Amino acid sequence: AAKPRFETADPATGTPGRSYEGHSRDEALAVARSVRAAFAAWRAMPIGERARLMREAARVLRRRQAEFAELMTAEMGKLLADGRGEVEKCAFNCDYFAEHAEAFLRPRPVDLDGPKAFVTFNPIGTVLAVMPWNFPFWQVFRFAAPTLMAGNTAVLKHASNVPGCALAIESVFREAGFPDDVFRTLLVPSADVKSLIDDASIAAVTLTGSVEAGRQVAAAAGAALKKSVLELGGSDAYLILEDADIAQAARVCAAARMVNGGQSCIAGKRFVAVRPVREAFERALAAEMATYVMGDPRDPVTKLGPMESVKARDRIHDQVRRSVERGARLLTGGTVPDRPGAWYPPTVLAGVRPGMAVYDEEVFGPVAAVVEAEDEADAIRIANGARFGLGSGVLTRDPARGERIAAEMLEAGLSFVNGNVRSDPRLPFGGIKESGYGRECSEFGIREFVNIKSVVVH
Ligand code: NAP
Repeated sequence: AAKPRFETADPATGTPGRSYEGHSRDEALAVARSVRAAFAAWRAMPIGERARLMREAARVLRRRQAEFAELMTAEMGKLLADGRGEVEKCAFNCDYFAEHAEAFLRPRPVDLDGPKAFVTFNPIGTVLAVMPWNFPFWQVFRFAAPTLMAGNTAVLKHASNVPGCALAIESVFREAGFPDDVFRTLLVPSADVKSLIDDASIAAVTLTGSVEAGRQVAAAAGAALKKSVLELGGSDAYLILEDADIAQAARVCAAARMVNGGQSCIAGKRFVAVRPVREAFERALAAEMATYVMGDPRDPVTKLGPMESVKARDRIHDQVRRSVERGARLLTGGTVPDRPGAWYPPTVLAGVRPGMAVYDEEVFGPVAAVVEAEDEADAIRIANGARFGLGSGVLTRDPARGERIAAEMLEAGLSFVNGNVRSDPRLPFGGIKESGYGRECSEFGIREFVNIKSVVVH
């Protein structure tokens, strides 16, 4: 059967990188079945022993930190320093679930006034993970550490532009001493995902990616009656209220927008400033954004590297161009540099309104959109008007006001006051509306791929 090929290219220069031979569909299904076959022994292993292996995976990650960071830079253009941080975060996550999984999954007694009763959290089999390129290590470990600790086995279909990362992640588990086939990488195109979901070897699927991919994977999982978790896009709004410290708000909002060169689901995308401070805020934001000067992703002082690909860059520029055509004001950036590679400058658009691409669509790059609101209520309405509901932020000098808005008013899976949204293994992570469903991380994440079972003994 035909084997796909996966070609990589350095986004900073456009230079072709390594080429990888992938798995044919039949090979991929055979691997998935071996991973399912490894489930019985893996789930039977005492959880303390699984934890020992997971801590070893954390050690392998730390030992190979520099190598993995370089791989991410070469394949998708991440800043080398960010890549190091990402590998450390993966190791922290492995340690976190090694330490806490047993308590999270301990059977819960239930008082039924007579018979013995309890709830157990049993693993369900083999989980398929379909993952994106933007945090090529973190997205995978965020899923893998809790899922494996729960006693499931796993197969990974990673994004097509990061085959080296996909294979490196498989090697972490091998080197850590995990039994064969507990975690395997499949190098397959997205067209093969449905046949995997349909196969009896796969119990459930998790996807992190775009809304369109989410719809298709959810439809396939629904047809096969298999559980799915979806972490999709976002158009996170940050509210800048009239009592905000404007200089601090501009710093937080620029940092929120510029996470990973703007290529993050939880990057701040729309900055909704109330009328009295809108002008001061947009000036401060433009100045702050302009400090993210484009440069060599391997240079430790660089704050903005290339986009993931020229195609992705062109899409971002097209969204900016269409918004300017509709009347958005360009405060900084907005021009494609004349050099090879996937470069795009930090860009701020003001006067953004519904009907403009940067308002209606998710912009996956360094482009901040400033929207004016009448007052607090109008700002909340604008934030909640998006079809997405992933993250959100509030900037105010009044923490009680910020807390009330964050906790009760914003339709999102995460709301942060006076800080930019970040994922953390200790906090549940996920969205509502078109940002998907289900949660990753924390005690809530580990419960997604378990059988929550009631046991009653008379
Ligand atoms: P994407 O095109 O949806 O790709 C993500 C993954 O899904 C890749 O492995 C891709 O494989 C696969 N895929 C694509 N179409 C598919 C289909 N029809 N059936 C099955 N699998 C399919 O996403 P992207 O544009 O690279 O990534 C950016 C998007 O991901 C943004 O919308 C972003 O907000 C979202 N994201 C969400 C989170 C979160 O936690 N909520 C985190 C990061 C990113 P191929 O590469 O082979 O096409």
